[in-house]
Amino acid sequence: MSIDAAQIEERRRQLVTLHDRVDACRRCAIGSSRTKVVCGVGDPAARLVLVGEGPGENEDRQGEPFVGRAGELLTKMLAAIGLRREDVFITNTIKCRATSTEGGRVANRAPSPEEMSNCREYLDSELALVAPRIVLALGAPAAKSFLGRDFSITRQRGIWYPGPGGTDLIVTFHPAYILRQTGGEIQAVKKLVWSDLLAVRAKLDDYANAALQQPPESQAPPDPANLSFDFQ
Ligand code: SF4
Repeated sequence: MSIDAAQIEERRRQLVTLHDRVDACRRCAIGSSRTKVVCGVGDPAARLVLVGEGPGENEDRQGEPFVGRAGELLTKMLAAIGLRREDVFITNTIKCRATSTEGGRVANRAPSPEEMSNCREYLDSELALVAPRIVLALGAPAAKSFLGRDFSITRQRGIWYPGPGGTDLIVTFHPAYILRQTGGEIQAVKKLVWSDLLAVRAKLDDYANAALQQPPESQAPPDPANLSFDFQ
């Protein structure tokens, strides 16, 4: 379905209204410890929505998802399949940074089930507004929020599932996880991620072809030379 400029502007306006609602939310304790809420950003009519776990330190400070090193890697991962960040919509399962204090130092932690449940309404609203064809879940927590707590990212990533709102859902590793790998593990994980990205690219092309549309220039076919997309 193609939508016109007025419809896109209306979606943009509704996303701003949603952001204002999230900004006022204190449903969880982390609603009071956050610096900024981190709502989704990108194309309000994107065919692809990426969903990560939650904001980290940089995101909390800047109020934008996937900034810092993991964000830079995500940008490279998208570029490897011919997409710019502004071609997609990028968000998280929760909109406030989840932290714990370890040895007097504030550290990121995984969102609790209660926080994810509390915040689900906002993620669902984003998905309903953007109405993508494809959802790419980044990392196990995001995947489990859609596919249940028994989901195993090592065994079940890279497979298409029925997603929210009639979307196609697929899971790959979170960029922060890739960055934590060392030695030979880096190439092994990157190879798996690359195959997942190619599956996403192929599905996008299927939708574009079905709609008898040429992919925009920004969504050119992937270059196999990007197999070793560099992030170090
Ligand atoms: S995590 Fe979500 S539900 Fe919880 S306080 Fe933040 S915005 Fe509200």
